[in-house]
Amino acid sequence: MRLRYGCLASGSKGNCHALTDGERILLVDAGLSLLQIRTRLGVLGWDPGRVAGVALTHEHSDHIAALPVLLRRTDWPLFATPETRVALEGALGLDVPTHRWRSLRPGQAVDWEGWRILPFSIPHDAADPVAFRIEVQGEAVAVVTDLGHPTALVADHCRDLDLLALEANHDVQMLREGSYPPLLKARILSRVGHLSNAAMAELLERIRSPRLRSVVLAHLSEQNNLPELARFAAAEVLRDTGTVLTVACQRAAVAPEG
Ligand SMILES: [Zn+2]
Ligand SMILES: [Zn+2]
Repeated sequence: MRLRYGCLASGSKGNCHALTDGERILLVDAGLSLLQIRTRLGVLGWDPGRVAGVALTHEHSDHIAALPVLLRRTDWPLFATPETRVALEGALGLDVPTHRWRSLRPGQAVDWEGWRILPFSIPHDAADPVAFRIEVQGEAVAVVTDLGHPTALVADHCRDLDLLALEANHDVQMLREGSYPPLLKARILSRVGHLSNAAMAELLERIRSPRLRSVVLAHLSEQNNLPELARFAAAEVLRDTGTVLTVACQRAAVAPEG
């Protein structure tokens, strides 16, 4: 695969995904410090000097923590919908200069010097949350996290992919029996919360294909999930397909083979 994917971090303490065609790097979200972003790209063997843009899914703090520093220290353009832009400027108390923005509309692909970046709406409790399908020279990768349930629209955008990074946030039983306050449990379990292992597996069932070489399970809760549980749920669906499974990590960069 020419289009490569690495997960620099994923989980409730920070999210940042990276894609490269060997020339340029696109980040999806920036929920790590700029130092950590650069360090972890280096761990993957990717040159941080090749980062050329950041696509933002939504304004929650675990996806945007680096932005204040990133705005001062880099000239990377930010791709986001206008609603997300307003929400994150409010969340950060920042006025981001207009020239830094590349405006997105859910359902409308943007051509970024040969890269096709397609944001699509996901059900989550943010201003205008999106996931991304990114295509370069016939290869397709999607990054889909922070969604309460797998809609038909999401499934449609996850078909005919080479790689899918997909949320496997929680095991429903662990969450229900765990120590989170009732309101937080209800939020996570809601239709605009986070994707359970079971819902993740249901989506994989709908979109699995011989083309899908790699699935990366992302945004795992450290309290309410175990990597083995998420992996088992996905492996059951993907058995006999040859799709390689990888579990993303909060503390370290992970890149699937191939
Ligand atoms: Zn979120
Ligand atoms: Zn999140």
